[in-house]
Amino acid sequence: MSEKDVRNVIVIGGGPAGYTAALYAARALLMPLVIEGVSWGGQLMITSEVENFPGYPEGVLGPQMMSDLRAQAERFGAEYVTDDVVSVDLSERPFRVSTGDTEFLTKTLVIATGARARQLGLASELALQGKGVSYCAVCDAAFFRGQDVVVVGGGDSAMEDALFLTRFASKVTLVHRRDEFRAEPIMVARAKANEKIELLTSVVAEEVLGAEEGRVTGVRLRNTKTGDISELAVTGFFVAIGHDPNTALFVDRLDHDEAGYLITRPHSTATNVPGVFAAGDVQDPVFRQAITAAGSGCIAALEAERMLAAEEHERAAVT
Ligand code: NAP
Repeated sequence: MSEKDVRNVIVIGGGPAGYTAALYAARALLMPLVIEGVSWGGQLMITSEVENFPGYPEGVLGPQMMSDLRAQAERFGAEYVTDDVVSVDLSERPFRVSTGDTEFLTKTLVIATGARARQLGLASELALQGKGVSYCAVCDAAFFRGQDVVVVGGGDSAMEDALFLTRFASKVTLVHRRDEFRAEPIMVARAKANEKIELLTSVVAEEVLGAEEGRVTGVRLRNTKTGDISELAVTGFFVAIGHDPNTALFVDRLDHDEAGYLITRPHSTATNVPGVFAAGDVQDPVFRQAITAAGSGCIAALEAERMLAAEEHERAAVT
């Protein structure tokens, strides 16, 4: 393998963090390769309107914003591989990144693989996925016009999903396992003020009903305080219980927290392996916004560029 086959920067992940890292690396003439994943675009592909990304006073559709970011990095020379990474070897530089078919070598690596929606783990939930069970209210709400639905969760996502669903559904029952909400009080207040939403606390979903019909027909609920079992007739079952970082490929080598989020140095995207940077939701369990992900993607590219420039400088000084 010759030196020319070794990339300056490989970015893994095609979300706001990955494309912004690619944009900055491309503008630094590093000719980054983005292995963006088969379903590139990240979580914003399953969002409708993004109203909090600066520069879009009228809002923008999530998928539109992602293709814009992708095209912007491409304009400056970013290259894309629309495939999933199946393994990485970070034990020595150049690092090795494999998609199964092809192995790529790189001097620096930006990990921007994001996070994914959590599942409850009920057998009936899995069986009815795409048949009334959904993890993305904004994607699927329109299928439930005039119908009754359930949202599971007590965080901001659950509140946001419940509110969004009221645009289409006739009734939204939000089911939360505790009697206190994790969501911001303003989000809870908005949900409470919406006459289409009913909030049930200390209640868990035990089974999604409808296996025989092949579509969701209801849900069996259990009150955790009284033990009471009840059934609710619904056609939609929306799970909004948080996310997990996509870090399985990296946790054996990179420092991470209990939940699997990669740990980066303060004020930096540097991981514990020199030359490996982590940007976006994969290292951010707190903010998880498109704009913060984009910001850390920018930092990762700048840090990779500075590292490569310093190494080049050192090499030139020796020769
Ligand atoms: P989250 O804050 O982690 O909340 C997850 C919710 O799901 C919690 O209420 C949790 O219950 C519940 N839950 C988790 N596992 C469960 C299970 N197996 N069965 C039943 N319930 C379960 O996740 P999130 O709501 O997705 O929010 C993530 C982050 O994004 C937060 O920082 C949030 O503020 C932010 N966010 C902000 C906005 C906004 O500002 N517009 C919108 C969406 C998200 P417990 O409370 O009992 O643990």
